[in-house]
Amino acid sequence: MIHNDSYRHKGLRNKLVQTLRQKGISNEDVLTAIGRVPRHLFIESGFVNFAYQDKAFPIAAGQTISQPYTVAYQTELLELKPGDKVLEIGTGSGYQAVVLIEMGVDLYSIERQNELFNKTNRLLKNLGYNAHLFLGDGYKGLPAFAPFDKIIITAGAPFIPKDLLLQLGHGGRLIIPLGEREQIMTKIVRINEDDFEQISLGSCAFVPMLEGIVK
Ligand code: SAH
Repeated sequence: MIHNDSYRHKGLRNKLVQTLRQKGISNEDVLTAIGRVPRHLFIESGFVNFAYQDKAFPIAAGQTISQPYTVAYQTELLELKPGDKVLEIGTGSGYQAVVLIEMGVDLYSIERQNELFNKTNRLLKNLGYNAHLFLGDGYKGLPAFAPFDKIIITAGAPFIPKDLLLQLGHGGRLIIPLGEREQIMTKIVRINEDDFEQISLGSCAFVPMLEGIVK
Protein backbone atom coordinates (compact mmCIF):
# COMPACT_ATOMS: atom_id res chain seq x y z
CA MET A 1 0.00 0.00 0.00
CA ILE A 2 1.46 3.33 -1.03
CA HIS A 3 0.71 6.34 1.11
CA ASN A 4 0.89 9.74 -0.33
CA ASP A 5 2.88 12.08 1.88
CA SER A 6 3.94 14.96 -0.35
CA TYR A 7 6.07 18.06 0.19
CA ARG A 8 2.79 19.95 0.43
CA HIS A 9 1.67 17.77 3.34
CA LYS A 10 5.06 18.21 5.00
CA GLY A 11 4.84 21.96 4.56
CA LEU A 12 1.38 22.06 6.14
CA ARG A 13 2.67 19.89 8.98
CA ASN A 14 5.59 22.24 9.66
CA LYS A 15 3.10 25.11 9.92
CA LEU A 16 0.99 23.08 12.36
CA VAL A 17 4.11 22.50 14.49
CA GLN A 18 4.74 26.27 14.55
CA THR A 19 1.12 26.84 15.62
CA LEU A 20 1.47 24.34 18.48
CA ARG A 21 4.71 26.01 19.56
CA GLN A 22 2.94 29.38 19.65
CA LYS A 23 0.12 27.85 21.69
CA GLY A 24 2.63 26.78 24.33
CA ILE A 25 3.81 23.26 23.47
CA SER A 26 7.53 23.35 24.28
CA ASN A 27 8.66 19.72 24.44
CA GLU A 28 10.82 19.35 21.30
CA ASP A 29 10.37 15.57 21.16
CA VAL A 30 6.59 16.04 21.09
CA LEU A 31 6.85 18.67 18.34
CA THR A 32 9.15 16.39 16.34
CA ALA A 33 6.67 13.51 16.67
CA ILE A 34 3.78 15.72 15.48
CA GLY A 35 5.99 16.84 12.59
CA ARG A 36 6.55 13.24 11.55
CA VAL A 37 3.03 11.81 11.61
CA PRO A 38 1.00 12.20 8.38
CA ARG A 39 -2.29 13.21 10.05
CA HIS A 40 -4.09 13.36 6.69
CA LEU A 41 -3.92 9.53 6.51
CA PHE A 42 -5.98 9.29 9.72
CA ILE A 43 -9.05 11.11 8.38
CA GLU A 44 -11.24 10.41 5.31
CA SER A 45 -9.40 11.20 2.09
CA GLY A 46 -10.92 14.27 0.48
CA PHE A 47 -10.50 16.23 3.71
CA VAL A 48 -6.77 16.78 3.40
CA ASN A 49 -7.27 20.51 3.82
CA PHE A 50 -8.67 19.94 7.30
CA ALA A 51 -5.95 17.54 8.39
CA TYR A 52 -3.39 20.17 9.35
CA GLN A 53 -5.70 22.67 10.95
CA ASP A 54 -5.54 22.68 14.72
CA LYS A 55 -9.05 21.26 15.04
CA ALA A 56 -10.81 18.05 16.03
CA PHE A 57 -12.46 16.29 13.08
CA PRO A 58 -15.17 13.61 12.70
CA ILE A 59 -14.04 10.01 12.05
CA ALA A 60 -16.15 6.82 11.83
CA ALA A 61 -18.77 5.68 14.40
CA GLY A 62 -19.64 9.23 15.48
CA GLN A 63 -16.22 9.76 17.09
CA THR A 64 -13.54 12.39 16.55
CA ILE A 65 -9.81 12.58 15.99
CA SER A 66 -8.58 14.87 18.77
CA GLN A 67 -7.34 18.38 18.07
CA PRO A 68 -3.56 18.35 17.42
CA TYR A 69 -3.02 20.78 20.33
CA THR A 70 -4.80 18.35 22.66
CA VAL A 71 -2.75 15.41 21.38
CA ALA A 72 0.48 17.38 21.87
CA TYR A 73 -0.61 18.65 25.31
CA GLN A 74 -1.59 15.21 26.66
CA THR A 75 1.60 13.71 25.22
CA GLU A 76 3.67 16.42 26.94
CA LEU A 77 1.89 15.84 30.26
CA LEU A 78 2.82 12.14 30.17
CA GLU A 79 6.54 13.09 30.53
CA LEU A 80 7.54 10.05 28.49
CA LYS A 81 10.83 8.25 28.55
CA PRO A 82 11.79 6.02 25.59
CA GLY A 83 10.76 2.45 26.37
CA ASP A 84 7.91 3.49 28.70
CA LYS A 85 5.02 1.04 28.65
CA VAL A 86 1.98 3.17 27.86
CA LEU A 87 -1.75 2.38 27.83
CA GLU A 88 -4.09 4.57 25.79
CA ILE A 89 -7.87 4.42 26.29
CA GLY A 90 -9.75 5.32 23.09
CA THR A 91 -7.69 4.31 20.03
CA GLY A 92 -10.11 6.07 17.66
CA SER A 93 -8.30 7.04 14.44
CA GLY A 94 -4.95 5.87 15.81
CA TYR A 95 -3.39 9.34 15.48
CA GLN A 96 -2.59 9.82 19.17
CA ALA A 97 -1.35 6.22 19.29
CA VAL A 98 1.12 6.84 16.47
CA VAL A 99 2.35 10.11 18.02
CA LEU A 100 3.10 8.08 21.16
CA ILE A 101 4.91 5.39 19.15
CA GLU A 102 7.01 8.14 17.53
CA MET A 103 8.00 9.12 21.11
CA GLY A 104 9.63 5.69 21.42
CA VAL A 105 7.20 4.02 23.80
CA ASP A 106 5.74 0.51 23.88
CA LEU A 107 2.11 1.26 23.11
CA TYR A 108 -1.03 -0.58 24.23
CA SER A 109 -4.38 0.91 23.22
CA ILE A 110 -8.02 -0.07 23.77
CA GLU A 111 -11.03 0.89 21.62
CA ARG A 112 -14.66 -0.03 22.41
CA GLN A 113 -16.05 0.42 18.86
CA ASN A 114 -15.36 -2.64 16.71
CA GLU A 115 -15.57 -0.60 13.49
CA LEU A 116 -12.81 1.77 14.60
CA PHE A 117 -10.75 -1.02 16.10
CA ASN A 118 -10.70 -2.92 12.78
CA LYS A 119 -10.09 0.13 10.63
CA THR A 120 -7.26 1.48 12.77
CA ASN A 121 -5.68 -1.94 13.23
CA ARG A 122 -5.43 -2.20 9.43
CA LEU A 123 -4.14 1.35 9.00
CA LEU A 124 -1.36 1.02 11.58
CA LYS A 125 -0.22 -2.29 10.08
CA ASN A 126 -0.19 -0.75 6.59
CA LEU A 127 1.84 2.21 7.84
CA GLY A 128 4.28 -0.15 9.57
CA TYR A 129 3.59 1.00 13.13
CA ASN A 130 3.90 -1.62 15.85
CA ALA A 131 1.19 -1.28 18.49
CA HIS A 132 -0.74 -3.64 20.73
CA LEU A 133 -4.37 -2.82 19.87
CA PHE A 134 -7.35 -4.31 21.71
CA LEU A 135 -11.12 -4.25 21.29
CA GLY A 136 -12.39 -3.83 24.83
CA ASP A 137 -13.71 -1.62 27.59
CA GLY A 138 -11.14 0.91 28.69
CA TYR A 139 -12.72 1.15 32.15
CA LYS A 140 -11.26 -2.29 32.80
CA GLY A 141 -7.83 -1.57 31.32
CA LEU A 142 -5.53 -4.49 30.52
CA PRO A 143 -4.80 -6.25 33.83
CA ALA A 144 -2.87 -9.00 32.05
CA PHE A 145 -0.32 -6.45 30.77
CA ALA A 146 -0.08 -4.20 33.86
CA PRO A 147 1.73 -2.36 35.35
CA PHE A 148 1.97 0.58 32.96
CA ASP A 149 4.37 3.50 33.34
CA LYS A 150 1.81 5.88 31.89
CA ILE A 151 -1.90 5.80 31.05
CA ILE A 152 -3.65 8.32 28.80
CA ILE A 153 -7.42 8.56 28.44
CA THR A 154 -8.61 10.27 25.24
CA ALA A 155 -12.33 10.41 26.06
CA GLY A 156 -14.17 12.39 28.74
CA ALA A 157 -14.36 10.24 31.88
CA PRO A 158 -17.16 10.96 34.41
CA PHE A 159 -15.00 9.54 37.21
CA ILE A 160 -11.52 8.08 37.71
CA PRO A 161 -11.64 4.37 36.77
CA LYS A 162 -10.30 2.48 39.79
CA ASP A 163 -8.98 -0.42 37.68
CA LEU A 164 -6.76 2.00 35.77
CA LEU A 165 -5.30 3.47 38.98
CA LEU A 166 -4.40 -0.03 40.08
CA GLN A 167 -2.70 -0.76 36.74
CA LEU A 168 -0.26 2.15 37.20
CA GLY A 169 3.25 1.29 38.34
CA HIS A 170 4.66 3.16 41.35
CA GLY A 171 5.74 6.58 40.11
CA GLY A 172 3.44 6.11 37.12
CA ARG A 173 1.02 8.76 35.91
CA LEU A 174 -2.47 8.91 34.47
CA ILE A 175 -3.64 11.80 32.26
CA ILE A 176 -7.43 11.95 32.28
CA PRO A 177 -10.00 14.48 31.02
CA LEU A 178 -12.32 14.35 34.03
CA GLY A 179 -16.00 15.33 33.78
CA GLU A 180 -19.18 14.72 31.78
CA ARG A 181 -20.14 17.44 29.31
CA GLU A 182 -16.97 19.44 29.91
CA GLN A 183 -13.81 18.11 31.43
CA ILE A 184 -10.86 19.26 33.49
CA MET A 185 -7.58 17.82 32.28
CA THR A 186 -6.24 16.00 35.32
CA LYS A 187 -2.87 14.49 36.15
CA ILE A 188 -2.68 11.69 38.69
CA VAL A 189 0.65 10.37 39.95
CA ARG A 190 0.92 7.10 41.84
CA ILE A 191 3.34 7.85 44.66
CA ASN A 192 3.38 4.30 46.07
CA GLU A 193 1.01 1.37 46.62
CA ASP A 194 -1.63 3.43 48.45
CA ASP A 195 -0.95 7.11 47.74
CA PHE A 196 -1.93 9.11 44.68
CA GLU A 197 -1.44 12.81 43.95
CA GLN A 198 -4.09 14.57 41.83
CA ILE A 199 -3.51 17.86 39.99
CA SER A 200 -6.25 19.70 38.06
CA LEU A 201 -5.17 21.56 34.93
CA GLY A 202 -7.27 23.46 32.35
CA SER A 203 -10.72 22.75 30.93
CA CYS A 204 -11.16 20.69 27.74
CA ALA A 205 -13.86 18.90 25.71
CA PHE A 206 -13.83 15.25 24.61
CA VAL A 207 -16.39 12.71 23.35
CA PRO A 208 -17.62 10.65 26.33
CA MET A 209 -15.90 7.58 27.75
CA LEU A 210 -18.65 4.92 27.66
CA GLU A 211 -18.86 1.46 29.20
CA GLY A 212 -18.98 -1.82 27.29
CA ILE A 213 -18.03 -2.62 23.68
CA VAL A 214 -19.94 -2.00 20.42
CA LYS A 215 -19.73 -4.95 18.00
N1 SAH B 1 -7.14 8.94 20.54
C1 SAH B 1 -8.13 9.09 19.50
C2 SAH B 1 -9.31 9.92 19.99
C3 SAH B 1 -10.61 9.32 19.58
S1 SAH B 1 -12.05 9.97 20.38
C4 SAH B 1 -7.53 9.65 18.22
O1 SAH B 1 -6.37 10.07 18.24
O2 SAH B 1 -8.19 9.65 17.18
C5 SAH B 1 -12.22 8.87 21.76
C6 SAH B 1 -12.32 7.40 21.46
O3 SAH B 1 -12.53 6.74 22.70
C7 SAH B 1 -13.50 7.01 20.57
O4 SAH B 1 -13.01 6.28 19.48
C8 SAH B 1 -14.39 6.16 21.49
O5 SAH B 1 -15.07 5.10 20.81
C9 SAH B 1 -13.37 5.63 22.48
N2 SAH B 1 -13.91 5.20 23.77
C10 SAH B 1 -14.90 5.77 24.51
N3 SAH B 1 -15.09 5.07 25.65
C11 SAH B 1 -14.22 4.02 25.63
C12 SAH B 1 -13.94 2.92 26.51
N4 SAH B 1 -14.61 2.74 27.65
N5 SAH B 1 -12.97 2.06 26.17
C13 SAH B 1 -12.27 2.21 25.01
N6 SAH B 1 -12.48 3.21 24.13
C14 SAH B 1 -13.45 4.12 24.43
